[in-house]
Formats: sequence, structure tokens, C-alpha cells
Amino acid sequence: MMAETTAIMTALSTLTPPQLSDLILSVFSDINRHHRRLSALLTSPTLFSLTLHHLHSLSLPHKTLLIARHLLSSLRLLTLHLHPKPQLPPKFPSTTSIKERDLDAVLLLLLLCEIRQHDPEALETSPAQWRGTLSKLWLDTMLTLSGVGFYNGSLLIPYIEMTTRCWKFVGEIGRCGVDGDGEVAASPAVVVALPSVELRGSGMECVICKEEMREGRDVCELPCEHLFHWMCILPWLRKRNTCPCCRFSLPTDDVFGEIQRLCELLVKIGQ
Ligand SMILES: [Zn+2]
Ligand SMILES: [Zn+2]
Repeated sequence: MMAETTAIMTALSTLTPPQLSDLILSVFSDINRHHRRLSALLTSPTLFSLTLHHLHSLSLPHKTLLIARHLLSSLRLLTLHLHPKPQLPPKFPSTTSIKERDLDAVLLLLLLCEIRQHDPEALETSPAQWRGTLSKLWLDTMLTLSGVGFYNGSLLIPYIEMTTRCWKFVGEIGRCGVDGDGEVAASPAVVVALPSVELRGSGMECVICKEEMREGRDVCELPCEHLFHWMCILPWLRKRNTCPCCRFSLPTDDVFGEIQRLCELLVKIGQ
């Protein structure tokens, strides 16, 4: 089993039975939506060639971003039921915010990767024949999945495998060509929602400016319970999404940064 799969499975093993059934329900509705899109794609020659055309027009970084967004939506779904709850921006984009055209493209791309892995020669025909090849593979998969247990936890395994494959891919390709030290800004929606607390007791230092925070003053409290002057933490969070004291990470709007945060969270929960 891949390290990523183990990390996800271990984190999920901390769920209580009701949490697990909630998770399975969410995964089921996500998979259902993907299956509906794929079926439509494979039965309509027009939709298929349009999607293939769209896929061909994308550069590698764009394809990577597409897979990364897809991965992020499944990581969000998987971590949604875990404790401690990952802090989500109040209006975080749901999976439905992926445009239908992009979802079709990423689902087709994943199916093409899968078939290339199992049967490298299958795609050596002309792209016009791919629809037939993919439909056959798709039908086989559906027949396997529709056996007894389709509606229970057995659905989780292919879902986790798909997530793991994207995770590996994004880990290997994702950061290529991206400058900087990997620091990303905290999501503005999350920063705006941070609580202000009145400081009780004196002698506490703000680690950013090294000055004492005066008693009775309103200071910013991060979810890790560390306190800072508002004037100090706001510029800090515009550059990084981590707490200056303990490196607790806040959500970010950067797709790759958010993937990294949720992956780290999964690994941490599993430990
Ligand atoms: Zn300060
Ligand atoms: Zn902290």
C-alpha cells in the first residue's frame, strides 16, 4: 500500500461509526456525480470529442492544476468529518464550484491515465476509437462496483485510491516551476473571521514585535490559541498561513498550499 493511502486510512480509522457513515454518504454522492458525468461523456460522441479537444488544448501546468483542484475537493470531503475539524473559510467553494467542463476533462484524464497503466497498447489507436475502448473499461468497472456492498464502505477504497493517485501526481509535478519558498498567504475569508479577545493578565509578549501586549487590549487569537497584536499578525498572514509560534496552519486560497495543509492534517491525525 502506498504511504499516502496508509495515511488516509489511518486518519479515517479514528472516526466514530456515525461519522464514518456520514463520510460514506458524502463520498457516495460525490462518486455518483462523477459517474453521471462520465456516463454522459462516454455515451455522447459530441461531448466526448469536445472534452478531448478541451483536454488537448490544456498545457501541463493547467492539467496539473485541474488534477490538483479535483484532489483538493476529495481531500476536503475526506477531512470534513475528522476531528480536530480543519478550519474552512466560511464560504469555501464546494466541489460543485468546479466547472462542469473542467470536471469532465479531469475525469476523462484520470480514466485515460488508468487505462494507460493497465493496458498501454489500448490507446495506440486513433483518438476517434478511444471512446469505445474507454466505454468498455468503464462498463467493466461499473459491473465490479455494482456487486454486493456497492452502497457500503467498499466504495471508499476506489475513492481513496483515486485520491492517492492524484496526491502522488500533484506531489511530484505540482510544485515544479513554482518560485519561492512555498509560503502562501492565509485565506482572507479566514483572517477576517479570526476572533478578537481582550487580554487578561500582563507580561505576555507578542512574538512578532517582541513587545509586551498590554492588559485589557484587544488582541488576535489564532485557532491554536496563540495571541498577537492585530497590527503584527495581519501583515504576517498576508504572506504566510502559519502561526509564528507553533506553525499551526490556517486555510489558504492557494490550491497547492491547501492540499499540503490537508495532507499534513491527515498525517497528523493518523499519528
Ligand atoms: Zn506585536
Ligand atoms: Zn500557534
